[in-house]
Amino acid sequence: MDTLVSLLRLFRALLDWRVILDVILITAALFFLYRTLLRLGTWKIVTGIFLAMAIFIAANVLDLKGINWIYSNLSQVAVIALIVIFQPELRKIFERAASLGGKKLDKTGPALAALFGDAAFVLAQKRWGAIIVLPGREPVKRWLSGGFDLYAEPTLPLILSIFDPNSPGHDGAVVFRNGKLAYFSVRLPISKTGRLSEEFGTRHHAAMGLSEVTDALVIVVSEERGTVKTFLNGIIRQVNDESELTEQIWSHWQTAASSGIELNEYRKQRHLIPEMVISLALALVFYSTVIISKMEIREKSFTVPVEYIAAPENLALRSDNPTEIKLQLAGPKSDLDKITPANLSVKIDLSKAKAGGQVFVVSKENITVPRGVKLVNANPSSIALSLEEIAEYEVEIQPQLVGTLPQGLELVSVKLTPKQLRVLSPPGDANQKINIVTEPIYLESIKKNEKMVRKVIAPPNVQPKGKKWPDVEVMIKVRAR
Ligand code: ATP
Ligand code: MG
Repeated sequence: MDTLVSLLRLFRALLDWRVILDVILITAALFFLYRTLLRLGTWKIVTGIFLAMAIFIAANVLDLKGINWIYSNLSQVAVIALIVIFQPELRKIFERAASLGGKKLDKTGPALAALFGDAAFVLAQKRWGAIIVLPGREPVKRWLSGGFDLYAEPTLPLILSIFDPNSPGHDGAVVFRNGKLAYFSVRLPISKTGRLSEEFGTRHHAAMGLSEVTDALVIVVSEERGTVKTFLNGIIRQVNDESELTEQIWSHWQTAASSGIELNEYRKQRHLIPEMVISLALALVFYSTVIISKMEIREKSFTVPVEYIAAPENLALRSDNPTEIKLQLAGPKSDLDKITPANLSVKIDLSKAKAGGQVFVVSKENITVPRGVKLVNANPSSIALSLEEIAEYEVEIQPQLVGTLPQGLELVSVKLTPKQLRVLSPPGDANQKINIVTEPIYLESIKKNEKMVRKVIAPPNVQPKGKKWPDVEVMIKVRAR
């Protein structure tokens, strides 16, 4: 039943276009993250991230406070850590996004493709090992090391001369760039993913390596086997003849020239649909658990102190008024969890109050609650207050003598200055006599006549006539017994 309710809630939430956009973006992010990281061979870290996400979702569903606390407090740090760890991958993603325009195709394109197709099979026949790098849209330069600048028109004799085992520059790869053979004898990054079987040697692993980190098409001629293989996006393919290779090269260039490189390249891969579906499912699960549970309206109660403000000067509250109110609030769980009693306040405005008993209703106007949260009810919902007119009295201050004098001494007199104070107090209290005393005077420590200054202590509802209570000077006289 519960799951049915939450499913219905999810469907209702999904009708909002913002939620749809949100889910689509999360799906796309998951999908491209997965694709890119998989191709880069960082799948162990990806698994780690997905595991962390799964734990987070589980913690959220089960409302595990500790894990949630760790996630909410460490997530910012984790994001920075991930940016540092994935710096090369992120750079690649941005490079891809930046090169979305595509490259222009040359009229000579088909002839060039045929030239490379031809050259590879001539090399294969001679059993001369070779690597030819045909970049896609991403720059390959920063993955290369060693080698020499060439910048020459690609021709069959030149390619054969380069890979002639007797030539000093035959080791390594030739890189084609901007219509020219730009470098030769170049070293490529060896694949670290272990995707290519160990029966292949370093030449094939180097070609695989570059194809995993860029979108270049890498052609390898094996000197051992006399075969031709291509590497594209981490996938190795056997090429059987010249025309097949020419076609592959041409379609690679066309893909690079079109703006929809990602889709074209992915369309050929059948596992694309399941991956998209899995990404969408993950995004929905993520959305339904985390976000919906945060959107879920809950209720929570808080005990909040009541403040009485703006009482007219001639009126005073009796001391037995309620000091706390229980508020029942409703709102999204995430907002409710952030509330502390300090964010809430209940203020009763006494500016229109009169002397005597009266009832104040506790309503929205008296209560400040954080945004997004609603008041369900307040308990008590009204407060009966009694206010009393304040009258002015003259009260004698009593010295508060504590303990006894040291042995051999007796008290002669205690004189206070001032002796009396004018105070403001509700009349009810005046009948019981207003008691105003000094701070304690400890007799044990008195050895001779002494003058000291003490503050006065008064009941809470008694106010001084002036702005504050004056200090009292106490003169104590003693004599030997
Ligand atoms: P083949 O099938 O031609 O024998 P292979 O995959 O078995 O190739 P090796 O036999 O180890 O590989 O080939 C070694 C040659 O591969 C080197 O002489 C060099 O030309 C080339 N090579 C090795 N490492 C790299 C690299 N990092 N970048 C470019 N070329 C490399
Ligand atoms: Mg070998």
